[in-house]
Amino acid sequence: MTGDELRALFLEFFEGKGHKIIPGSSLIPQDDPTLLLTSAGMVQIKPYFLGELEPPSRRLASCQKCFRTTDIERVGDTSHLTFFEMLGNFSVGDYFKKETIAWAWEFITQHLGMPEDRLWASIFLDDDDAFNYWLDTGMPADKILRFGEEDNFWGPAGDSGPCGPDSEIFYDLGEEVGCGKPSCAPNCGCDRFVEIGTLVFMQFNQDKNGNRTPLPKPSIDTGMGIERNAAVVQGKTSVYETDLFVPLLDCVSRLSGKKYGTDNEIDSAMRVVTEHSRGITFLIGDGVMPSNEGRGYVLRRLLRRAALFGRRLGLDRPFLKEIAEITIRQMEHVYPELKQRQDFILNIIEMEETRFGETLNSGLELIENIMATPSIKSTKIIPGEDVFRLYDTYGFPVELTSEIGASRGFTVDLEGFDREMDKQRQRAKAVQKFGSAGMVKNGVNNIVDIMTTPFVGYSGTKQRTEILSMLVNGDSVRSIAQGQEAGIILAETPFYGEMGGR
Ligand SMILES: [Zn+2]
Repeated sequence: MTGDELRALFLEFFEGKGHKIIPGSSLIPQDDPTLLLTSAGMVQIKPYFLGELEPPSRRLASCQKCFRTTDIERVGDTSHLTFFEMLGNFSVGDYFKKETIAWAWEFITQHLGMPEDRLWASIFLDDDDAFNYWLDTGMPADKILRFGEEDNFWGPAGDSGPCGPDSEIFYDLGEEVGCGKPSCAPNCGCDRFVEIGTLVFMQFNQDKNGNRTPLPKPSIDTGMGIERNAAVVQGKTSVYETDLFVPLLDCVSRLSGKKYGTDNEIDSAMRVVTEHSRGITFLIGDGVMPSNEGRGYVLRRLLRRAALFGRRLGLDRPFLKEIAEITIRQMEHVYPELKQRQDFILNIIEMEETRFGETLNSGLELIENIMATPSIKSTKIIPGEDVFRLYDTYGFPVELTSEIGASRGFTVDLEGFDREMDKQRQRAKAVQKFGSAGMVKNGVNNIVDIMTTPFVGYSGTKQRTEILSMLVNGDSVRSIAQGQEAGIILAETPFYGEMGGR
């Protein structure tokens, strides 16, 4: 069963159970300041759970693009991903634990064809309802394990929102894969038991101070990672061996002339390049632009990490664009925005990678010089000022300096780096104040409150369009003279609005 088939099967199954299939949302969360990037299928469902919006149906299902920043450094092993697809079914005050557990079981055993005796479940400590519903499926009592808040209480996503006890489903890859201890079981920490799905029983809303109040109606949020489940049904122990990743690894292999599966270090570098290229493609496809702050920084860090690991494979010219092209070709039928914005995505990748390549060489030279300084050579600590200079002048993410330093036995002074960052933020604030004063002077602020200007920069950087209004000192004018300072409002613009979201 291919990844594509698995995705389609899930949506068909839940459509058959009365669910409305809704499109996944952007990786940039809409109207949710608590989140940097969309990290789960429930992100767009949140306002329905909270009773703030009326859902199109009480039963919903989706396939959602997700991005998680917590594990970036761990990418390169056989399982951690930044970008992944999550399948989910949701109940907004409709069905609860009973149907959720029964349907998950039915889908996994009958439609994905996973053998029943390989499956385990975990539940929250005192959740006897969940325990009994699992017994109803035919799962033996000794394969239903109880865990505390750390393992079986989900959410909230961000610092507040819906949350509740959950139940996780595990697939046993077999004794030969695990640690071999007789006590080995789900949550052991070894590779034997793969978590293939999470069922969240949303009962509470948690505020910023950690107080939980019951939700108007108990709801259901579930998540199944496509990549992991594809690995299980395809009989693989790693997501990289599934049909979702093999074409990308093949591309890296073709570009670098290195073969996957012959050398641990090379394999790991190939996985980093593959995984990050895929993530970069989707991030830019949803409108994230490289920058030194927020999600733009996540993108920049990912791209630079991929470029750097590419060098370990002997790829010292820009190459990420080519893996992005394969990603687009492979995923465009599910995510048409990739095809629509293909030129834009590829251009941004090429520009950013070329620029990084140019600074990388001078940066690497600088790190060498810093590490060769006698005072630093003796302490094996790279000072915060130097880490900051690498970051600010050469665009070296601090994590990259750490990784390069660590490979030579050096650590970096992170506190010193943070101090320098703070100083820079103060400087940036002063500049921003100046900038907005200029905008108010020309009266632009009054106008943008009532108008939006469509952004057309995804298809090109030149645009013939109409001037809708001209402003001098806040007043609309019919003409402006040479040398006069004015604001103009266009019908559409290829200029990307970096500040203010307009
Ligand atoms: Zn184990």
